[in-house]
Amino acid sequence: MQIALVGIGKIAVDQHVPAIAASPDWDLAATVSRQGTVAGVESFDDFTAMLDARPDIRVVSLCLPPVPRFDYAAEAIRARRHVMLEKPPGATLSECHDLEALAREMRVSLFATWHSREADKVEAARTWLADRRLRSLAITWKESVRRWHPGQAWIWEPGGLGVFDPGINALSILTRILPAPVHVTEAVLEIPENRQTPIGATLRFRHPDTTDVSAVFDWREEGDQTWMIEAETDGGTMRLLDGGARLEIDGTEVGDDHDAPLAGEYPRLYAAMARLVQSGGIDMDLSPMRHVADAFTLGRRVTVAPFLE
Ligand code: NAP
Repeated sequence: MQIALVGIGKIAVDQHVPAIAASPDWDLAATVSRQGTVAGVESFDDFTAMLDARPDIRVVSLCLPPVPRFDYAAEAIRARRHVMLEKPPGATLSECHDLEALAREMRVSLFATWHSREADKVEAARTWLADRRLRSLAITWKESVRRWHPGQAWIWEPGGLGVFDPGINALSILTRILPAPVHVTEAVLEIPENRQTPIGATLRFRHPDTTDVSAVFDWREEGDQTWMIEAETDGGTMRLLDGGARLEIDGTEVGDDHDAPLAGEYPRLYAAMARLVQSGGIDMDLSPMRHVADAFTLGRRVTVAPFLE
């Protein structure tokens, strides 16, 4: 199937282009970008122009930041294109619900992707937790915004999510691996005095078996980077490490280590999109985004030192 990639920025170049190139399902037929191009691929700098010029391209993948994404997605759906959305699927829950309703009306596929759910050991963690009783769970997601988001202004603007941009990846794993639902009961949002979005956040959740479920997101970590979920259960302890790439059960590493354990995430997302288009399905699980919205609703704001690039 032919696909168009929209927004040729960091994630498009790092992950989408290689995943499409390696896929037996997809042919990258066009790009839409104000600046970027992909060698050997027809490029457009206007989305409407691409939709008009290439009616043969039935699927578009949107790699834009969340705020501009709705207008592109709605236009694509109205033009009867199937749409794949980078995470988070939009800037607000309401616009995501509206997109889903529109996709149903226009009978096209719509996919809210959560790449971290496709990390190597997430499924093994889900299986292990399925028949155990949870005693506590702690998410620690600490990374350097300077290293991972250099010069990205949109992450600090309203709708840009700040530290929840990576934090929502942890929440996408949490909502996949826990058999029971959780909901946010408390949040603290640390917002630099010169920015609109948090640089740090702590969350607490209620779970049917325990209130000891928490998350710490921090963008000020310049040392070792940590993307970890630790769970204690009545049947042992589990540590999901490196964003879901590695798993330890009771201190013992599960499965083989390999060189690029996160390399399978985007190929698996594109394979899932191919299945969705073939079956005419819609996959719009908004649960990770709901927790972020709840944290912003309940969160106590604390002003912290200005963030200067
Ligand atoms: P980015 O490089 O800053 O931006 C991606 C592209 O979006 C830009 O190249 C630009 O495309 C387009 N864009 C930016 N602002 C726009 C606007 N106002 N209107 C229209 N187009 C606009 O961001 P990114 O890091 O790739 O992130 C994009 C999405 O992928 C985010 O939702 C992010 O959460 C997600 N994501 C990022 C990463 C990562 O490691 N960076 C990992 C996983 C997921 P053109 O200049 O080409 O027009």
